[in-house]
Amino acid sequence: MYKSIVIGTGPAGLTAAIYLARANLNPLVIEGPEPGGQLTTTTEVENFPGFPEGIMGPELMANMRKQAERFGAEFKTGWVNKVDMSKRPFKLNVEGLGDIEAESLIISTGASAKLLGIENERESIGRGVSTCATCDGFFFRGKKIIVVGGGDSAMEEANFLTRFASEVRLVHRRKDLRASKIMQDRARENSKVVWSLDRTPLEVVSGEKGVTGLKVKNNETGQDEILEADGIFVAIGHKPNTEFLGGQIETDEVGYILVKPGTSMTNVEGVFACGDVQDSKYRQAITAAGSGCMAALDCEKFLEGHMVHDWSKSV
Ligand code: NAP
Repeated sequence: MYKSIVIGTGPAGLTAAIYLARANLNPLVIEGPEPGGQLTTTTEVENFPGFPEGIMGPELMANMRKQAERFGAEFKTGWVNKVDMSKRPFKLNVEGLGDIEAESLIISTGASAKLLGIENERESIGRGVSTCATCDGFFFRGKKIIVVGGGDSAMEEANFLTRFASEVRLVHRRKDLRASKIMQDRARENSKVVWSLDRTPLEVVSGEKGVTGLKVKNNETGQDEILEADGIFVAIGHKPNTEFLGGQIETDEVGYILVKPGTSMTNVEGVFACGDVQDSKYRQAITAAGSGCMAALDCEKFLEGHMVHDWSKSV
């Protein structure tokens, strides 16, 4: 039995853990299959305040984890199979750890960028393939970039990346774009954006120094083509990691947790959400960390006078 359990160890979860631990709530932090979250798959983080020379993503996350441990947060690794939120204490079933109970929960399981699932894609992340233009665009100054996708994200990323790239090629698997008209128009009016529509991505092509292009199938001619590029940004959407909640928490139609505006409170009393799992808009390490702080403060406040377990008898 814990006063608070944090599920997920990206910047949101770790910041929540630091705050809860400093409030003497001795949180248990459950690390999943990608400890540290999306930042551990990026290279240098240049926009997290406080690091004028930048910091490597994995190092930033390792530092946050150490900071939480320093104040007494306990870490355990395991996949959360099931959560019972029907009554408090909440009951979690965790692979390898069994059943664990908690007075309160902070959900910070993040969102995963969708990948194309093509050959050499996953291996090339951090070596020319990226899923975050805001994070990595800066590394492609004066270079040729491909953006894959036909939705608003792809249009937005393509436009953003023209600030750095000499050329941005938009590759989409159909002739028609899914993006809203206004976003399409913005991309079409941008002279640095070139188009390869009706092309299905097949393989990331790379050499010794990283990505050199994208192999696609031209759906009109049936021929394979290699589109040259120094970087490939996959912008085909994100998927919030909320499936394990089994529909017990209110989400939007995509699965992002809905929180009461200006707070981290979900529709279930005692359950709080922070980071990308409840944010489809900003998705930055610093906004995630900020929302983690909010969740810990909301949780701390909630626990005052709401404990169901008699903690005075606990050692
Ligand atoms: P989305 O609308 O679902 O679009 C995903 C795109 O990726 C689609 O064009 C889809 O192709 C393509 N795609 C998916 N899987 C693929 C695969 N395996 N291979 C190749 N292509 C694939 O996702 P999104 O663009 O991230 O947008 C999500 C939501 O956020 C939308 O509601 C959007 O309006 C919103 N958003 C808004 C803004 C803004 O207004 N500023 C910015 C970003 C996002 P098909 O079209 O063929 O299915």
